[in-house]
Amino acid sequence: MSAMITIALSKGRIFEETLPLLAAAGIVPDENPESSRKLIIATSRPDVRVVVVRAADVPTYVQYGAADLGIAGKDVLLEHGGAGLYQPLDLKIARCRLCVATPAGFDYAAAVRRGARLSVATKYIATAREHFAAKGVHVDLIKLYGSMELAPLAGLADAIVDLVSSGGTLKANQLVEAEEIMPISARLIVNQASLKMKRACLQPVIDAVREAVR
Ligand code: ATP
Ligand code: MG
Repeated sequence: MSAMITIALSKGRIFEETLPLLAAAGIVPDENPESSRKLIIATSRPDVRVVVVRAADVPTYVQYGAADLGIAGKDVLLEHGGAGLYQPLDLKIARCRLCVATPAGFDYAAAVRRGARLSVATKYIATAREHFAAKGVHVDLIKLYGSMELAPLAGLADAIVDLVSSGGTLKANQLVEAEEIMPISARLIVNQASLKMKRACLQPVIDAVREAVR
């Protein structure tokens, strides 16, 4: 009898873009979490199930071993810190970039040169703190959970740190990308203890996904 493998996934773009990679490992979820309300979804493989969690919660499920595998954006992994996680694969999906954005009329470069103190709204507090500290920019960070683009418009902050893909949302809100912090893509993450104890089950899945990414 083989051990049960639990995979933590979030709904939406990660789930959609992950389906072909899982299919390469012979794993096809029985239901789509977009239409189903189930949080535990069986798959075509009796020894594999999917748990559906918020994107930011994926590393936590895998860290504590409630899931053996997960797929999470690098943005989420940086904020989490990666404790207890093995990160064997860049899946090259859900690609975007983490950026500093400001209102079109705000001279970010000049404010940085002047040594101005900037207020920055973001859901990526840890990553933003590290970025600005490395540049020697003084910032007051304001934690938000979504709709970061609103913050400068409403007068909450001078700038935001957020994910950008096409730039359409920034443009629609008269914001411009002032600086790229880093490119982002989704990663396969593995619980370190699971990898040791269930290696015979997990390694073939990891290998099949690696082949599918290539
Ligand atoms: P929730 O909707 O539960 O608040 P979320 O907004 O983080 O969570 P998604 O929008 O599905 O959930 O984002 C999941 C991951 O997809 C992010 O962590 C990021 O890595 C990536 N991502 C987010 N926005 C984009 C984008 N515009 N283009 C490509 N990838 C993105
Ligand atoms: Mg989102």
